[in-house]
Parts: sequence; C-alpha cells; structure tokens
Amino acid sequence: MQFSILSESFERMEKTTKRLELTSILVELFKNTPPDVISKIVYLIQGKLRPDFEGIELGVAEKLAIRAISKSSGIPSKKIEQEYQDGGDLGHAASKILEQKTQTTFLVEDITVERVYETLYKIAKLEGARSQDMKMKYISSLLNDANPQESSFILKILLGTLRLGIAENTVMDALAIAFTGSKDNRKFLENAYNVSSDLGKVAETIVAKGIEGINDFHITLFNPIRPMLAERVKSEAEAIEKLGDKFSAEYKLDGERVQIHIKDDAVVLFSRSLENITNYYPDIVENIPKRINSKQVILEAEAVAINENTGEFLPFQELMHRRRKYKIEKAVTQYPISVNLFDVLYYDDTSCLENSYEKRRGILEKITQEDEFVKLIPMTTVQNEIEIEDFLENSINAGCEGLMLKTLDGPYRAGSRGNLWLKLKREYRNELGDSLDLVVIGAFFGKGRRTGRYGTLLLASYNEDMDEFPSICKVGTGFTDEDLDQLYQILSNKVTIKKNPRIISEMEADVWFEPELVIEIVASEITLSPIHKTAFNELRKNAGLALRFPKFTGKIRAEKSAENASTDQEVITLFRGQKKVTQNEAEQY
Ligand code: AMP
Repeated sequence: MQFSILSESFERMEKTTKRLELTSILVELFKNTPPDVISKIVYLIQGKLRPDFEGIELGVAEKLAIRAISKSSGIPSKKIEQEYQDGGDLGHAASKILEQKTQTTFLVEDITVERVYETLYKIAKLEGARSQDMKMKYISSLLNDANPQESSFILKILLGTLRLGIAENTVMDALAIAFTGSKDNRKFLENAYNVSSDLGKVAETIVAKGIEGINDFHITLFNPIRPMLAERVKSEAEAIEKLGDKFSAEYKLDGERVQIHIKDDAVVLFSRSLENITNYYPDIVENIPKRINSKQVILEAEAVAINENTGEFLPFQELMHRRRKYKIEKAVTQYPISVNLFDVLYYDDTSCLENSYEKRRGILEKITQEDEFVKLIPMTTVQNEIEIEDFLENSINAGCEGLMLKTLDGPYRAGSRGNLWLKLKREYRNELGDSLDLVVIGAFFGKGRRTGRYGTLLLASYNEDMDEFPSICKVGTGFTDEDLDQLYQILSNKVTIKKNPRIISEMEADVWFEPELVIEIVASEITLSPIHKTAFNELRKNAGLALRFPKFTGKIRAEKSAENASTDQEVITLFRGQKKVTQNEAEQY
C-alpha cells in the first residue's frame, strides 16, 4: 500500500476536529487498505506501532531527527533548527525544507506503508551503543525516498507529535461502517476491544472474519482486559438507592491496581492504564503462582505498601518508590507490599466476565491460599445503612480509603464505569465531596522561596468528547519543598515550545507542558468561571467551571495517564452535587 494514501489522509484529518468528518476520512482510508495492512494502519493513525501494553516506544529525540533531515537534504542543522523555531513543528519544518530539495531532485521513489512501518519498528527496537547512528541511517533512508508531505508525517510519528485527535471510539465507528456497513455494530467491536486492548487485532478480525469472528473473540492470556470502573456515591443512602437491598462491600485499598496474568510460572502484570508493570513487582511474580491454585488465570488485585512489622497499610505514595528502573531488588525489601485480590476474570480456560460477582468471588476464594503476602480483600454483604457505616468505619481504621460497593449478581463490565460498582470514600464528607485528579498543563515561575522552581501550576480536566485538556484552576498551595523539587524535576522534561493544541486555556502560562502528569487536588468549591474552560458552554453560555481554593494533596498519580484524569462530566456531577447548589439552582443547570 502506498504510504502517500496514508499521508494524504493524515493531512485531511489534521485539518478537521469534527468527529463525523474524521470518521468518514477513516472509512475511506480503511476501504482502501489491503487486509494484511489494516492493523498497521490502525496503529499508525494513533501514532503507535503496537498496542500500548506492549510498551514499544519510538523514543527518537528532536536532535537526532534534525541531523537526519540535514543528512538527507544537505541543508545544515542550524537552518533546520531555525525553521523549526519559527514554525514550532519539526514535521512541517522538514516538509518545507525537503520541498526545496524535491525541486532539484529528478525522481522520488514511491514508498509503502509496509516499508515505513518495518523501518519504524526496527528503529524502536534498536538498543545499545551504536543505536543512535543506526537510527539516523534508517530515518534518512526513509526521508530520501519520501516526498515532503510523507516526510512530515514520518517525522511526526517518530517524534510522537502526530496528534490527530482520533479517539478509539472513532476508529471503531469507522471500522464498523467500512466492514459491516453499519455504525450500530460498533458495540461488537467494543466488546472485543475491551477484552484485548488491541485495536489492531480487532481490526484484523473484523476484516478477516466479520461480525461472527468478532463475536467469537476470546480473552487471550497476556493481553490485558480493560478494567471495570466504579461510580462515586456520596452517602450510604445513595448506594442503597442504586444497588438495592443487598450487596457486597469491600475495603477500598489505597494502592495500585494490578491485573495479574498467570500461565504456569509465567506472570505478567498490567497497571490500571494497561502499562506492563511486571518489572516493578518481582515479589508478585515470584510468589503469586505458589498461592494460586490454577495454571491459567487472570486476577485483579490492589498492591499496597505495608509496614513490615505491623502489617498496616501505608499510603499510596510509598508504592511509588517502586517506580524505578534500577536497583529494584533494594526497593522490594525497603518498601514491602501485600497483594490484595478482589476479582478473577479468567479461570480454567474460560472467561469469568459473564459470571456474577458472587460466583467470581467464590472462585477467587476457592483458588487462593492466603498468606502474609497474598490476601483476599476483606468483604461482607450489607443490607442497610448501619451495616455499611460499620464496615466503612472498620475500613478507615484499617488505613483504607473507604468502600467499594458491588452488586452481587452483576457481571464484570470490562472497560466501563457503571452503576454495578460504586465507591464510597471518606473524603466525601468534605466540602467538595471528593478529590480530583488533574493534568498539569502549564506553570508560572516562583518567587522568594520558590525561585528557580515552578511556584504555581496550571491544571486541566479531561474532556472525553473532544479529547482535550481544558484549564480548571491554578494551584499554589499544599506543596512542600520536596514536592516542589520533585515536580520541577518531572515537569522540566515535559516542557514544550508551544502550547499543545489539545490544551484549552486562555491563560498565558510562563511554560507549557505536554499534558501527561496527573496530580491529586482537593478544593472547597466548584464555581462557574469566565476564564476556565472545563465544561465550557455546557452549563452556561461563555462560562466554564473552576475550582476555588484548590490544594495539592501530596499525591502524584504516576499510575494515571492524562486521559484517566477527572473528566468534565465528573466535574459537572460534583458541581451539581455541591451542598451550596440548592435543589432549585441545581435544576436550573
Ligand atoms: P478511583 O481510582 O478513586 O476511581 O477508585 C478505583 C480504584 O480503587 C480501582 O482502580 C482500584 O485500583 C482501587 N480499589 C481498591 N480497592 C478495591 C476493591 N475492593 N475493588 C475494586 N477496586 C479497588
């Protein structure tokens, strides 16, 4: 398949933000794609080579790309840098520069999607001393044969700056339309995606085997299942209203969610955002197969840092010491954990997703041999407010965040947040009701004690529909000196020359960041705001929502990606639920 077909589609997609238009460009592209290339196209349009959980990163630095452009165009790096500074996008700069070259080149060879993909894949896999030189060779060989438009997109993929704003749902809509003739069939694709987290594989299946093949899609060990999520409730009464007379209550532990795949002695661990985190937990890998009486199984657990002497649960931050590449053995002994199981998704060669919660918990109890390291999350069944309150009190005394409340007869709804699981947290008794997880998008330099660091951060929520990060508040309180140092270190690697187009803000920050880091914030109130952009125009024309008196809680949510941050819809729900918004006012919005 000619790469120009793809790069022309990229160019059209870059020019629109309308979902319908994006979908129809994708449908056309998919229809022009041979079956054996479909998965590559699906990954490439998302700026990827493989599904996220495989952790394959291109990791090409701008400097290297500039050298490669220079090599293939014969134009000095300095001039390319200048063009880049002026335009702010290296892909466009390269395309401009190479246009000059093309005019003098006699013949440009066609390049194929397969060749670009294979070359990018080789680049991603390169390691070691000579890898930089090899990468440069590969890149300039592609640029030599690519036309300016193709070069521009090849570079964007390499640098990770191809942002077409295509949500997974849009890809699935387009696949459904292109290969089944109806968008309504997206739900079948979604089911397959939820159990595989691999859109390329879903695309291949629908092309090769149609709807029947998609409906016959099975869980595969070592392909992560998209996690089921819980909705928040503010009170015991609300939980009863939603779940009925009798349901289960479990401790809500404050650790890291871990999806554990076991086949014989092979163990792979995935985080909540489906990152492969096996390397951070060698203790789980070593011990879990000995405590689980099943050869092939997928489990869910919360890994929690503990005090080794007392067995007490420690706060989430303690676990983040494990997030290191080197000397992990030392961290394992220094920061011990326990693994607290709460679900089983696959067992005995069959999916458990359709089984009721009660049945799944039964299986979990049957196959687990508890010890100090591997435990079942404490659970009970509750029937009234007093029983819930009682268990909530116990959980908080044990160092937990609150309770997870789950319907007894509900299936496991992979990838969805629904009413079958609810979370009741202690903080809900606070003014606002809950903490928010917000994305750091910009910063303002500090003064006095904070000179040389970022004194105030600009934060955003996540708008799921638009796939954007609208600003919600500035925050300058709650930071210790250590926090400021740590945040400076993390954030200075994320500085961008220009504001990322997915950031929506009218403020002029001193520096802008790639929207990646998520931190936890509490606040006293949510108000309508003429400046901030969360839920803009949703509740009132020309107004968004903003936080009053926001404060950093001390928690960097390293396990969450920016797309896992609190959404505009969640902020609207909190806003509507505020005590200060009276019934009348709430109805008004
Ligand atoms: P939140 O991050 O506030 O949306 O809460 C959901 C998270 O709570 C899950 O992703 C798990 O990491 C965690 N969790 C703790 N205890 C449980 C439990 N008993 N059942 C399910 N999730 C739990």
